[in-house]
Amino acid sequence: QSVKMIVGNWKMNGLAASLGEAEAVRDTLAGQPTAHRVGLCLPATLIAQAAWRLKGGSVEIGGQDCHAEASGAFTGSVSAGMLKDAGASLVIVGHSERRAGFGESDADVAAKVEAALRAGLEPIVCVGETLEQRDAGRAVEVVTAQVAGSLPESLRGRDFAVAYEPVWAIGTGRTPTVEQVAEMHAAIRAALVEGLGATTTPILYGGSVNPRNAAELLSVAEVGGALVGGASLKADDFLAIVRAA
Ligand code: 13P
Repeated sequence: QSVKMIVGNWKMNGLAASLGEAEAVRDTLAGQPTAHRVGLCLPATLIAQAAWRLKGGSVEIGGQDCHAEASGAFTGSVSAGMLKDAGASLVIVGHSERRAGFGESDADVAAKVEAALRAGLEPIVCVGETLEQRDAGRAVEVVTAQVAGSLPESLRGRDFAVAYEPVWAIGTGRTPTVEQVAEMHAAIRAALVEGLGATTTPILYGGSVNPRNAAELLSVAEVGGALVGGASLKADDFLAIVRAA
């Protein structure tokens, strides 16, 4: 059985008190270790505190976005180096909520990936089609174009992950069939191998992953882990997904 990467994305949820859930994940994994990599991508405001409260545990800490520049007059933004300095080792880039809500293009995402690599963060690059695109029969074409456009050449030989998150599966309780997941992950692998020679880079699935559907989704060929939104906010749910992997 291969090592999977199970990463929670808290999105814009969580205050200092919520880090009790992260501590519960850490404590449980300390008592019953897992072979899988486990990470939590937190609001930027919680990263420094999480880094010291989770110190010595096996839970990796990540950000949810970073600016493409290292520093400067970008009011309100957080750089990759700042996330690293606060204690993060991972960063999500190109989430569909950023692409759609903040107008991020593939080129913007690629620039953020470059910034993450320069700062020593491992990027988790998100791709995924809308329902309209899937209904038009264009899902694979759209996603492989996102992979080609969002992953710069500098990723060659570096540690990173791709997350396939169909927009219509995020926060909806709907998930693709195992056949749809298998088809897309195979297409992403082919694009990764062709573009970057990336034969082992984990390709995570994200979108309505929960303790009930995790085992099935994580058993699909080329699914190297999960990017979990809502179900990552509670330690019990998130740990159940880790155990299902
Ligand atoms: P949900 O698991 O809440 O559907 O969110 C998925 C997601 O967007 C993770 O990045």
